[in-house]
Amino acid sequence: MGEDSLPADDELEVSLFGPGIGECIVVHLGGGKWMIVDSCIPKGLDEPAALRYLDGLGIDVANDVALVVATHWHDDHIGGLSSVLNAARSAQFACSAAFEIEQFWTLVSYASEIKFIEHNSGVAEFDEILATLNERYAGRYRSGPDYYAVEGLRLYRGAAPFGEVCVEALSPSAQTITDQKGQILPDVLIDEPIRRFMAHDPNDLSVVLLIQTPGCCVLLGGDLEIGRDNRRGWRAIVESRTRPDIASSLYKVAHHGSPNADMKEIWTELLANEPIAIMAPYARGRKKLPTWDDVKRIKKAAGRVYCTVWPFVDRPKARSPIVDSVAASATRFRSAIKKGAGHIRLRAPIMGGGDISVETFHGACRM
Ligand SMILES: [Zn+2]
Repeated sequence: MGEDSLPADDELEVSLFGPGIGECIVVHLGGGKWMIVDSCIPKGLDEPAALRYLDGLGIDVANDVALVVATHWHDDHIGGLSSVLNAARSAQFACSAAFEIEQFWTLVSYASEIKFIEHNSGVAEFDEILATLNERYAGRYRSGPDYYAVEGLRLYRGAAPFGEVCVEALSPSAQTITDQKGQILPDVLIDEPIRRFMAHDPNDLSVVLLIQTPGCCVLLGGDLEIGRDNRRGWRAIVESRTRPDIASSLYKVAHHGSPNADMKEIWTELLANEPIAIMAPYARGRKKLPTWDDVKRIKKAAGRVYCTVWPFVDRPKARSPIVDSVAASATRFRSAIKKGAGHIRLRAPIMGGGDISVETFHGACRM
């Protein structure tokens, strides 16, 4: 089927786009309603991958995207996210309840003269998102996200005639939120962190989503890492007493296949036997993901593994010897990121009783 063919009304679709330094997931939740998780603008394009794809399908983005989720505020997950939310005019917006200091300051200082000095892209996108939400919910007081995702929070429920479809957050854990509050509040009150609270990498704050349908379930792993103990990270999800007792048959591999986001219990307790695993690589800097060892490890655990692009970097184009030597002296490492976005598309009947189909476009492939 062509990339521009629509899913049936009663078909769940999970599309993963990955250009090497970013990833974006587009989900058809049934009944013509869609969810977008994270965003990326592929190299050589000027539009977020999600909008480009949905426009190609002829979807009415303004009315039919029900939910936009930011799993965390790393550059490779938020490129163009504010444009996505701006276009998805009736969508609700969810982000992690575990705030980074930058996002906290952006929220409290929004539309004031005070601006957070370290203006990274996570701050810029969140600032734009707040502008969109404030326009949407215009009133006397300022507005914020529709949902702060936390373990156990339901973000979507669609009761279509063909069965109930739910999206639920499995992370961050309450302890992770406590840790972040412990980082932020002393910073505000006494201008220095209290060391008794654990400091987290933004990946630790990532939202993991579980999509439940009568026919099959999907685990979207975000960039969540394993976690220091049973109250944090994947370990908190595995140990949760309230998580739905469900084995998903599709898995968006966490943190681009990194071993620091992989633990045996994800495969044995959260996933069905031989699940389909999909992933998008991360190709910035020296530490690229996944490595061949990661791919081998994931292949051993999963039934089938697909990657949005492979290999995901090219040798940098040779320039004049002078330019090459200047570039080599100024950078520690150089590689060329591929243009465009690979696309893995999974479709399955929401009521079950049929196979899960997998299609690959623009260089995505089975590993
Ligand atoms: Zn990432």
